[in-house]
Amino acid sequence: MSNQASNEQSADCLFCKIIAGDIPSNKVYSDDDVYAFHDINPAAPQHVLIIPKKHLTDVRSANEEDQALMGKLLLKANDLAKELGLDEKGFRYVINTGEYGGQTVFHLHLHILGGRALGWPPG
Ligand code: 5GP
Ligand code: ZN
Repeated sequence: MSNQASNEQSADCLFCKIIAGDIPSNKVYSDDDVYAFHDINPAAPQHVLIIPKKHLTDVRSANEEDQALMGKLLLKANDLAKELGLDEKGFRYVINTGEYGGQTVFHLHLHILGGRALGWPPG
């Protein structure tokens, strides 16, 4: 899965800069394809972001060649949720998408939120 193309980055992107190490982050996990780190402004006792190293703006930007990467993002998030101790009580995966979805950073990221009971529906 890892090749030159899968690590394309965008010069203006905050999360690409975090992946490159140009902006510091509190790393949880990293491999050739994905990077996970603690959210700077946690919305729950545990709040981790997992992102593809390839710059994708959001899920809508993914296509067939990203199928394995999308699957890996979810499966790796499962591992991390378990490691964070969230598995037993449950937790939430969130992918905010676009303006009305509440997206503020336009590099695809999967939020892992847990450690307390979360309300529904979102505001
Ligand atoms: P969104 O609203 O786009 O779904 O989520 C973006 C998330 O990125 C927010 O939860 C926000 O707190 C987090 N965030 C924004 N800037 C930084 C940063 O520089 N470092 C880290 N670790 N998280 C950030
Ligand atoms: Zn990016």
